[in-house]
Amino acid sequence: MKWDEFSDWGRRVADWAQDYHLTVGDKPVRATTEPGDVLNALPAMPPEGGEGMEAIFADFEEIVMPGITHWQHPRFFAYFTSNAAAPSVLAEFLTSAIAPQCMLWQTSPAATEMETRMMDWLRQALDLPGEFQGVIQDSASSATLAAVLTMREKALNWQGNQQGLFAQKPLRIYCSSEVHTSVDRAIWVAGIGQQNLVRVPIKGTWRGMDPAALRSAIEADIAAGLQPAGLILCVGGTGTGATDPVDECLQIAEEYGLYSHIDAAWAGSAMICPEYRHYWPGVERADSIVFNPHKWLGVQFDCSAHFLKNPDDLVQTLAISPEYLKTHGKDGIINYSEWSVPLGRRFRALKIWFLIRTYGLEGLRERLRNHINWSNKLHDRLALEPDFEIITPPMWSLWTFRFAPEGATDLDDLNLRLVNAINDDGRIYLTQTRVDGDLVIRFQAGQFETTEADVMMAHAVITEIAATL
Ligand SMILES: *Cc1c(COP(=O)(O)O)cnc(C)c1O
Repeated sequence: MKWDEFSDWGRRVADWAQDYHLTVGDKPVRATTEPGDVLNALPAMPPEGGEGMEAIFADFEEIVMPGITHWQHPRFFAYFTSNAAAPSVLAEFLTSAIAPQCMLWQTSPAATEMETRMMDWLRQALDLPGEFQGVIQDSASSATLAAVLTMREKALNWQGNQQGLFAQKPLRIYCSSEVHTSVDRAIWVAGIGQQNLVRVPIKGTWRGMDPAALRSAIEADIAAGLQPAGLILCVGGTGTGATDPVDECLQIAEEYGLYSHIDAAWAGSAMICPEYRHYWPGVERADSIVFNPHKWLGVQFDCSAHFLKNPDDLVQTLAISPEYLKTHGKDGIINYSEWSVPLGRRFRALKIWFLIRTYGLEGLRERLRNHINWSNKLHDRLALEPDFEIITPPMWSLWTFRFAPEGATDLDDLNLRLVNAINDDGRIYLTQTRVDGDLVIRFQAGQFETTEADVMMAHAVITEIAATL
């Protein structure tokens, strides 16, 4: 394709994208393809000769689109949302056109300086103290890995990278049972070992870590000659929105000199609203905090905001500066590749800038508040249904329930059948989780274009389909 043919196709793609977003609510939310359908529709061998865009685009619609689960559907109530507000999609289009590599300041000064400014906008939006500085990571998993590596290096007096872990005392890292699996993986990849990830018991309706149990676990490890290194807290866990008592746990981390990281990948977006900040009192004590603007805030995937109280600890852990990457003569500049595991970096800050300028913080707050209020309203209605039990209460816009009609015996099986039948129906999309061993169904609202009617439709769908089982 020649670049002078690009604009025709660019317009067609833009028209297609607008039409897709305006009509996606008419499609079944979850993909309707069977395993292998898409694979078998794709030729086994690559073409030797080139093909025209007309044929490629036709196949995109015919082969690819039926195999897409519609994350931008207004009745996507599964997992957490992964939003793509229109202005952030435009910014991604521009980014992919200029395709800069943003590893160093000099490899795209605008990308670096925009990232510095956008992370500070987000810091202010969350009302974090000015001492926090930020970097955009590709995922919360990467931010958590970077934090765990920092815990390791700090606890080993910066010797782990050089000497390896073979001759070191075992390091111990503490979290609750409710943290995301990205924590386990970070522990594996950092060479710390699953057996050194200490699961502190939880208590209370927020399903948060018990601070007294945290203290006893640390004391027991010290007595056994092990070395406590870090604490990972969750604010808005993936299963039920579990939230640790941040202030009490971070005070204990400070007392024992543990590096602390807060995973608020989903719920962090809601902290742009002052009325939800009571969920993380004392957050300013943390060393590292991550949240994903690509989940709930509306920024196109991927974009993970990682705040650090002292970026030098992270840079000391991750920076390698071979001669060919040095930027001579420019002091005081930031090379963000020294703040993350991958070297290459996309220009992700542009889509934050487009999004926040388009809606303003107040426009974004209004959306989040609506999602939470509508989700609560649905919760209140379902709670009145005699055949349904609420299992965990709303944490922001997330809660869980179970279909438990009188006389039913195998509730796990019944609820798995219910969630599958709902998803086969296609009007809404839900996922299940386990709470204290029981299979339960999750509900969360957070899609950027969802309306109150979309959320309330879930009541009709859930009760109607349950009645057929
Ligand atoms: C989604 C989620 C993650 C993982 O986020 P990625 O950006 O996909 O790595 C981690 N923790 C929590 C609480 C999440 O909800």
